[in-house]
Amino acid sequence: MDRQQEFVLRTIEERQIRFVRLWFTDVLGTLKSVAIAPAELEGAFAEGIGFDGSAIEGFARASESDMLARPDPSTFQVLPSDDGNPSDTARMFCDITMPDGSPSWADPRYVLRRTLSKAADRGLTFYTHPEIEFFLLRDRPSDGTEPKPIDNGGYFDMTSHDTAHDFRRAAITALEAVGISVEFSHHEVAPGQQEIDLRYADALSMADNIMSFRHIIKEVARAKQVHATFMPKPFRHQPGSGMHTHLSLFEGDRNAFHDASDELYLSATARSFIAGLLRHAREITAVTNQWVNSYKRLFGYSAPGQIVEAPTYVCWGHANRSALVRLPMYKPNKANSTRVEVRSLDTACNPYLAFSVLLAAGMKGVEEGYELPPGAEDDVWSLSDTERRALGYDELPHNLSDALDVMESSELVAETLGEHVFDFFLRNKRAEWVDYRAEVTPFELRRYLPSL
Ligand code: GLU
Ligand code: MG
Ligand code: MG
Repeated sequence: MDRQQEFVLRTIEERQIRFVRLWFTDVLGTLKSVAIAPAELEGAFAEGIGFDGSAIEGFARASESDMLARPDPSTFQVLPSDDGNPSDTARMFCDITMPDGSPSWADPRYVLRRTLSKAADRGLTFYTHPEIEFFLLRDRPSDGTEPKPIDNGGYFDMTSHDTAHDFRRAAITALEAVGISVEFSHHEVAPGQQEIDLRYADALSMADNIMSFRHIIKEVARAKQVHATFMPKPFRHQPGSGMHTHLSLFEGDRNAFHDASDELYLSATARSFIAGLLRHAREITAVTNQWVNSYKRLFGYSAPGQIVEAPTYVCWGHANRSALVRLPMYKPNKANSTRVEVRSLDTACNPYLAFSVLLAAGMKGVEEGYELPPGAEDDVWSLSDTERRALGYDELPHNLSDALDVMESSELVAETLGEHVFDFFLRNKRAEWVDYRAEVTPFELRRYLPSL
């Protein structure tokens, strides 16, 4: 047994933990959990906990269904209870292996580990910092009508007895109790919409943190008798919820994106990395935006004249909030904060897979020395189609079906996800599209019934 495992066993005894939850994530980004008694943990560290992989979305076909969940002791945390105090339950994230101990190709955590290790071979560590938006709702109607947000607030609004404000305090306390540091939090533009930004961390820890975040936010909401949703676009006439993610690469302590002598303080690595993100943007969109509903957000307007700040065109800019990739700040003396912000992701992606394809796209640019095209300083939405075409700005896919078509022919995505996840993902998402395609929507009934 190693020192981290011993530490976990000792903590469990000292803190009188009664339940240990082993967490992992399916291919679609749903958190899975199995609770074990503390007495079982030593065995779980040594041999893993067996489960039926064929019961988990995307994990296995029935013939090869035995899998093992192996807890990663470095992720051990005691979960907070509803009042914010430590509970009698702890959790650890797991890596999934086959019975012979080899990693499971279906495990999203392994997909990310594999992608990170390729960057590590070049001496690079990948850090991410997400801005997570979500809605707080009074209800969650299942009949297809719009839900009611908990308030009528807007960007940065704050009133003294405001549920959203209380909620954010409770949520941040609970997140910090499990070691997730929060950098900023505020009310977002739409009624009921919140944003919580996490302090940057290495991409694997961050993907774990995002999974924990979604769980904790839903639990805090439940304790306050409201609902939290990470659905990308619940309201027709309001902006959706994005997960803008800031990316950087470090070589030891040195930010590999920073170059003090460059006019934008960007290193050659950063420039090629951004070029990679742009060149492969369309191929990876099905992964960063994986639901039918995701594409209702990746649309410039929620109502005529009301810009929603979600990207639709493949370009980069500085202050430009309509660009897919943005350079948030350039401070010559702050080498460590040089980073790029990717604005397409939504909060309902599988963070392990999304970080994998972003890193792979960027690294492809670095390996092949892609040249960075000129930045877009104009508001890309206000240009005409002809102007955009002349500037070479491609559009992001308009819907899940188009996104899958581009992904299907992408070597980069196939190689990054591995054959198993790639095939499952395409099959599962095509099926989702077919279900959607067969729907007769309220739009059609409203539009056609009166006149046709
Ligand atoms: N809610 C916007 C989106 O869907 C982002 C707003 C912002 O923080 O700039 O991406
Ligand atoms: Mg925001
Ligand atoms: Mg942002």
